[in-house]
Parts: sequence; C-alpha cells; structure tokens
Amino acid sequence: MTSEDIKRKARELGFDLCGIAPADSFPELSFLRDWLGRGYAGEMAYMSRSADRRADARAVVPGARSVIVTGTIYNTDRPYSTEVGSDPVYDPTQVALIARYAWGDDYHDVLTERLNALLAWMRAESREPFDARAYVDTGPVQERVYAQYAGLGWIGKNTCLINAELGSWLFLSEIICTLPLEPDTQALEQCGSCTRCLEACPTGALVESGVLDSTKCLSYLTIELRSGIPEARRAAVGTHVYGCDICQEVCPYNQVPPRSGDAAWQPRPGLDLPRLADLWRRPDTELRALVKGSAMTRAKLTGLRRNLAVAIGNSADPDALAALSERSDARPSADDEMVQEHIRWAVRR
Ligand code: SF4
Ligand code: SF4
Repeated sequence: MTSEDIKRKARELGFDLCGIAPADSFPELSFLRDWLGRGYAGEMAYMSRSADRRADARAVVPGARSVIVTGTIYNTDRPYSTEVGSDPVYDPTQVALIARYAWGDDYHDVLTERLNALLAWMRAESREPFDARAYVDTGPVQERVYAQYAGLGWIGKNTCLINAELGSWLFLSEIICTLPLEPDTQALEQCGSCTRCLEACPTGALVESGVLDSTKCLSYLTIELRSGIPEARRAAVGTHVYGCDICQEVCPYNQVPPRSGDAAWQPRPGLDLPRLADLWRRPDTELRALVKGSAMTRAKLTGLRRNLAVAIGNSADPDALAALSERSDARPSADDEMVQEHIRWAVRR
C-alpha cells in the first residue's frame, strides 16, 4: 500500500485533498505554548490540558511515522456575510449570520465515518500491522501544521489553512499512523504582502500575522465561551449568532471558491440565512430539532439564545426586538439568567 494508493482511496471516499506529512517535531508546533502563555485560549482549558500531546503527534500515537491529512470543501452557493448587505434578496438588519461550516450536517459525524472507512481500508490493504488514530478536529493534534507539511496548503495570516486553488473553506481531518509512508512536499506560504484579513477583522482578534487572540474572536465569543459575552465586546458581535467568516471571506484566495455538491454541507432550510426574529420565536423544541445533527449543537440552547439576544440588540429590526420582549413558556432557555441579562442589554441598546 503506497501513499498514492491511500490518496486515491481518499478521493474515492469523497475527500477533495489528501497529503502525507512525516510525524516530525516541526518548529511551528512549539508556538502553542507561547500562545497559551499569552492567555489567547481564554476559557478553552482543554487546550492547556492537552498541550503536551498537541506538541507532537508521536505523543498521541507512540511510534507514529506519518500523518495522513485530508481536506474537504464545504463551500456552497450562498453569499458571504460581507455581501448580504448588497444582495437585494436579504435585509441585512434582519439576517442571523451563521458560520458557513455550520449550515449543513455536523462535519465531525460525516467525516469521521469517511475517515474510519479510509482507515479500515488501510488495515485491510497493509501487509504489516500498524497503530493509528483518526481525528476530525477534536483530537489533540495541530492539524493545520501537519496539513501544511502534507502539502495541502499554507497557514495564512488569518490562521486558516489555505490551498492556492481551492481556498480555505476546507474541513481538515487526519490519521496518525506508525506506517513509514512517502511524505509530500511542504506547501509554501503565499499570503505575500496582503493584510486584508487583519484589516477586516471587526474585533482586532488577529493581533499579529497568523496569531489569533481567541478571547477577541467572534467564533470564540459565540461558540466556545460558556459564560456571558463581555459587554465591551457585544457591539462588535454585530448580527453574528454562531461563528464568523469575515477573515476568510475577504481573502483573495476565496474570491472564486469552488462549491461542494455534497448533500451533507448544503444549508438546512432553517439555517439558510434565517431572520433573527424567526429564530428567536422558535420554541426550544423546534430550535433543538433545527440544530440537531449540525455543528451548532456545540453552543447549547442557552448559548444560542444569548447570541441571538446580542445580535438582535445590534440589529435595527423592530420586529426582532419585539420578539425578544415576547414572553413564552415554550422558550424556557430564554428564562436562563445569563440569557435574561443579555436580553436586558439588547433592549437598552
Ligand atoms: S473569525 Fe471573525 S472575529 Fe475571528 S479573527 Fe476572523 S474576522 Fe476576526
Ligand atoms: S486575506 Fe491575505 S493575508 Fe489574510 S490569509 Fe488571505 S492572503 Fe493571507
């Protein structure tokens, strides 16, 4: 079983990119400690807890020789959040902005199945036994570093992995294994003098080229943060209710991006640029059913209500504000004290 065989099988299984990196201690891997020391991980304590393993794939799979990295395009034909304002179909004051990756099915579930199929095929094909672990985003692995050394792309100034032809709307997943596979050549950095992402970030979260202060990032504030959103940061949230795509949308490599025809990534009707008021008015049972099986379950219902309250406070939509003030026993998550505090803020604003 050669590297080329594995890549051919990965393409057959629906992965758009596949490359192989040696399981080495690349210099980029050591920056994590510095980043954690600066407090940029915020409340993501799991990052510190797994820092040792994240520093080297060989700490995850002892004796690892190779990291097989895959990339999967998830872009669809909907406008960018930065284009919604100029699209006559949408009223930008009313639209709830949701990160592109979360519109369809949960990529963890979809890609884990495909990656496990690839690993099962490898085990059947390999003449020698080997150890391996497969991860889709949730493993203690700095996958972008390995993706870069696997030739899939470079880590841009916006911290995303960018492929020169496909852009950065890519899910990454990987198999760490003890097989000594033929590696690919490292991809070269191609941001050049561009600084569009740093300039476009609404919160200044990209504090240096390629360095993200998560505590300022809307993706962190609307997804990872479990407590209240700091008041000083709420205005910058705008109408983002789950994540943020701005630093990818402005990237020159994402201006004519390929689109995926995969049914898994197509927007669910209720998450397809929905109105803030409509999302808020959904009873908890409906909201839960809407996000079930999507990546949006990570924020929990109270987190979504919290984000919706802030977004409505920032919108200029009187109907959404009216919705916020309507009391309903069908929305117990709205009665949560943290959510109530955000509602009061929104009404004042
Ligand atoms: S996701 Fe949004 S808030 Fe976070 S760094 Fe990118 S542009 Fe800034
Ligand atoms: S916007 Fe420019 S600087 Fe930022 S990641 Fe894209 S190419 Fe690099």
